[in-house]
Amino acid sequence: MTDIPVRVRPEIAALPPYKQGKQAGADAFKLSSNENPFDPLPGVSEAVAAASAFNRYPDATAGLLRARLAERFGVGDDEVHVGAGSVSILAQLVLATCTPGDEVIFAWRSFEAYPWLAVLAGANPVMVPLAEGARHDLDAMADAITDRTRVVIVCTPNNPTGPIVTQAEFDAFLARVPDDLLVVLDEAYAEFVTDPDAVDGVRHFAQPNVVVLRTFSKAFGLAGLRVGYAIGHPRVLDAARSTTIPLSVTAHAETAALASLDHEDELIERVRIVGERRDRLAAGLRDLGWDIPQAQGNFVWLATGEQTTDVAEAFDTGGLIVRAFAGDGIRISVGEEESVEKVLGIAASVVKDLP
Ligand code: PMP
Repeated sequence: MTDIPVRVRPEIAALPPYKQGKQAGADAFKLSSNENPFDPLPGVSEAVAAASAFNRYPDATAGLLRARLAERFGVGDDEVHVGAGSVSILAQLVLATCTPGDEVIFAWRSFEAYPWLAVLAGANPVMVPLAEGARHDLDAMADAITDRTRVVIVCTPNNPTGPIVTQAEFDAFLARVPDDLLVVLDEAYAEFVTDPDAVDGVRHFAQPNVVVLRTFSKAFGLAGLRVGYAIGHPRVLDAARSTTIPLSVTAHAETAALASLDHEDELIERVRIVGERRDRLAAGLRDLGWDIPQAQGNFVWLATGEQTTDVAEAFDTGGLIVRAFAGDGIRISVGEEESVEKVLGIAASVVKDLP
């Protein structure tokens, strides 16, 4: 690329462009972005269509949705913050806490946005390798804390590998974390969790240095509308809000989220169906000889190592768009019912060629 005289921050110029999961052709299943295969919950599209005031700005703090979430979780309105996707709230939290040279700790491999958000804030990403079973190594993460650490991100269930952090593990970890250091529990896939030992971040809302992030993108199926939320201490959420580009949550996103919350019974049923498909997929893959880590989100992880690109190509050729992390593994989202057998069919043919 030809150089231009504009002085872009070197660390920003060095960032690779964001790579979105591939879009699927007409007859392929898109299993690359952990999206929900279901249409929006009943009444959601109608509510959004009826909210037609395109000429008006939205409510800057999404007050109705905040109040509704506060009621749902038994917390105060000021303990909830709504953002244009939970990833944007995470960006706000990192910006609010880090100055250049500070450190953000997280497990690796985990959600690809983490190193990127640290770099945007001028901070250094500190990536702590996952332990056995592709689980968080919270002891190693606590050991990695220095006087420059400002944020530790704990992703549970971990995207892309799938295991949860247990409540006991999290409590032990928290006991080792200085109370001026922010701990973000990224629970984007919380609704899919069936392991009773899993940490419940919302329990920690009164603790000033813990913030939990959740989203309407996954279980609620509103990824395209961009709406997520944080539960935490009001002062921390105020700080996050101060870094926000105002008015980024649209009235339509707020309306859709509110309408979705009217249909919790249907939500629970859909989550059950996705969980059942996930467990069937994981069990089927294990039967084929694949070593599948605990899968508690709406996805499964194949540790394909150096063969990742070849295996992903086999899925691609078979009409399944999956997410490949070169040299490491493949994440397959739980999609439509018919996709489960298709994944297992291709995985069965591929496994024969693996060493
Ligand atoms: N956290 C994790 C762990 C995720 O996997 C994702 C989405 N891929 C997000 C956050 C972002 O979700 P949202 O759509 O709410 O920004």
